[in-house]
Amino acid sequence: MGSSLIEVAAAEAAYFKLKLLDGAGEARELKEARRVQLELREALKQREGAVAELRIRLEELEAERSQIAARLEKLERSQKGASYRDQTQLEQESRAVAGQLEEIEEAELEAMVEMETAEAGEAEATAELAVSVAELSAKILEHEETRRTLQDQLAAARDNLLLLVSGLPAEEQQRYRRRSSGGAVLAIVVHGVCGNCHLKLSEREAAQLRLGSDVDCDQCGSWLVEGGL
Ligand SMILES: [Zn+2]
Repeated sequence: MGSSLIEVAAAEAAYFKLKLLDGAGEARELKEARRVQLELREALKQREGAVAELRIRLEELEAERSQIAARLEKLERSQKGASYRDQTQLEQESRAVAGQLEEIEEAELEAMVEMETAEAGEAEATAELAVSVAELSAKILEHEETRRTLQDQLAAARDNLLLLVSGLPAEEQQRYRRRSSGGAVLAIVVHGVCGNCHLKLSEREAAQLRLGSDVDCDQCGSWLVEGGL
C-alpha cells in the first residue's frame, strides 16, 4: 500500500517526540524524592546521635549520684559514736555532700527531660523517613511503568515509520533513505513555517513548495512537506 510524504513526516514527528521523552531519563520528581530522602536520613542520624549522647550523660550522672550517695551514707554512719568535735565537722561535711547530691539529682532530672524531647524527635524522624521510603518506592514503580509504556509506544512508532517509508514511491523512498542519519528527515510546513526549525520560509521556497518541487529548508536543511495550510 502506498504512503505519502506527509504521512511519513507525521509518523517521524510522533516517533522523535517519544524519543525525546525517553531520553529525558529519570523524572525530576524522582530525583527530588531521592534528595529529600537523603536529607531525612541525615536528620535521623543526627537525632540518633543526640539520643546516644544523652544516654551516656545520664549514665555518667547516675554513676556520680550513687558515688555521692554512698559517701553521704558513710558520713552519716560515722557520725554515730563520734566525739562532739568530730560530729560537728562530720555534720558540716554531710551538708556539703547532701548539697552536691541535690545538684546531681537536678542535673539528672534535666537530662531526663532533654532525653524525652530527643527521643520524641528521633521517633518523628524515623516516621518521616519511613513515609519517604514508601513514597519513593511507589514513585520508582510508577516511573518504571511509565518507562515500559514509553518503550512500547516508541517501538510501535518506529515500526509505523518504517512501514510508511517502505510504502513511499521508489524515488522518494530512495531520497528519504539517503538522507536518513538517525534524526528527522522531513519537516511539515504549516502557515509557511518550517516544522523543524520554526522559521518562516522565503518567498522562493514557499513558491517552489506550492509547485510540488522537492525543497529543503534554507535554515535547517529539512526536507519540506506542505502541510496543506
Ligand atoms: Zn527548517
